[in-house]
Amino acid sequence: MMYGDRRKDPKKGLLLYLKEPSMKVIPAEHIHQKGLIQMRNEMAYYISRQVVKTADDTGMTFNLGRLPEPISNTRACQKCPQLINCAIYQREVESRPLTGGAMAGLVNESLGHLTPDHMMYFVQWCLMLDLETQTDQSKKTVANIWCKSSVDREEGGECLGGMVLETGGGQF
Ligand code: SF4
Repeated sequence: MMYGDRRKDPKKGLLLYLKEPSMKVIPAEHIHQKGLIQMRNEMAYYISRQVVKTADDTGMTFNLGRLPEPISNTRACQKCPQLINCAIYQREVESRPLTGGAMAGLVNESLGHLTPDHMMYFVQWCLMLDLETQTDQSKKTVANIWCKSSVDREEGGECLGGMVLETGGGQF
C-alpha cells in the first residue's frame, strides 16, 4: 500500500500476531486498506498535537495533548502492559470523566498505590520527552547523524566531534 505509486499493487498484506508471534499473508481488500488509512490519519492527528502550547501575559505554557479514545475493554485493559500509564494519562492529563466502561473501575484500582506526586512526576517526564522529540524533529538532529559530518554538526551545537576520553595514564 505504501509504495503503490511505484510498484504493482500485490493485493496482499502481512498480519502480525504479536503474542504468538507469527505472521500471515492475507488478502488486502479495499475495505481493509481504507480502515488502515483512516487509522493512520487518526494517529497522525494526535501525534501532531502531542504538546499543546498556550501563551498568556505570564508567558508560555506547555501541556500534554489528548490521546485517542481509550478502548475501555475489560478483557484487553486488565492485561494491558500500559494500564498504569494509560490510567495516569486519563486522570491527570485528560481529566476524563470515569463514567461506565471498564476503565471506570480500572483507573482507581491501578493507581491506588501512587501518590499525586508520583503521577505528576510521570506527566512531567512525558512532557519533557515529547518536547525533546519535537526539538529533535524540528532541527533534524537525528537525520543529521547520517547526513552531516561531525564537524558540521558540532558547529551547529548538535554534538561533540572528535572527542577523546582519557583516564589515568591511558587513552581510549
Ligand atoms: S489500558 Fe489503555 S492503552 Fe491499554 S488497552 Fe486499555 S485503553 Fe488501551
